[in-house]
Amino acid sequence: MRLNCLSCGYAVDLDNAYGDYDGQFKCVICGAVINIKTEEGKLKSASVAKAGQRPSEKRAF
Ligand SMILES: [Zn+2]
Repeated sequence: MRLNCLSCGYAVDLDNAYGDYDGQFKCVICGAVINIKTEEGKLKSASVAKAGQRPSEKRAF
């Protein structure tokens, strides 16, 4: 399963441990904290809990 970081757009590979998960995930690229909820390996919801810090790079997401 993949999750695109809501802050920087980086595609994070989530392993099977996140198949049923309700909690926070930290982006390794920008450091943003994302609230995610998954069920049966599918992303149900995602929202930014804490914005990342990468002001030098902007992406059109
Ligand atoms: Zn990020």
